[in-house]
Amino acid sequence: MQEVNQMELVKEFFTNNPNRNIEHPEVVDWVTIEYKKRTGQVFRDPDRGIRKLAQEGFLIKISKGVYKYSPDFVHKRELEDFSDKQKKEILKRDGYRCVICGRDEKDGVELHIDHIKPKDFGGEATIENGQTLCSQHNFLKKNFKQTETGKKMFIRLYDLAKKENNKELLKFCTQILEVYEKNNINGHIVWKR
Ligand SMILES: [Zn+2]
Repeated sequence: MQEVNQMELVKEFFTNNPNRNIEHPEVVDWVTIEYKKRTGQVFRDPDRGIRKLAQEGFLIKISKGVYKYSPDFVHKRELEDFSDKQKKEILKRDGYRCVICGRDEKDGVELHIDHIKPKDFGGEATIENGQTLCSQHNFLKKNFKQTETGKKMFIRLYDLAKKENNKELLKFCTQILEVYEKNNINGHIVWKR
């Protein structure tokens, strides 16, 4: 029996069908049949595999259940990963500490370099768009569940948008930060317009 990785099989389908909006059933049918053919086993959850590839930035989500693989997009995303040299510079600038909680490796936390403006919103791999976060805040940023972290993050994003004169992003951040103010949430974190 041949070793076939399920995720690789989903990737194989999309790679063979570039630049086309593809609905779930088409992918699912193909990978299910191919997996059975190559391994004799049942591919349990192709939907999950597709969603995971979209989260990783390999696929573009067009609409609910519709995905596209664009080689240019994948390539461009990879270009927006920070280089080791950039990571070192960002760490140094941030004093080797998480910019949210101030903890460092001596406190036993692992530090990550995060895109302030996410790659999904066109965030680039520049020193200016990078920030040092601990694992916890890196995780929280992805979820925005903790309002305090969210507010600090949106202030940083607001400042960046202002610097870039990105009106659309500025408007978005302003609206969110106004909701914080209106509801008097995390008033100790001051947003300077
Ligand atoms: Zn932190």
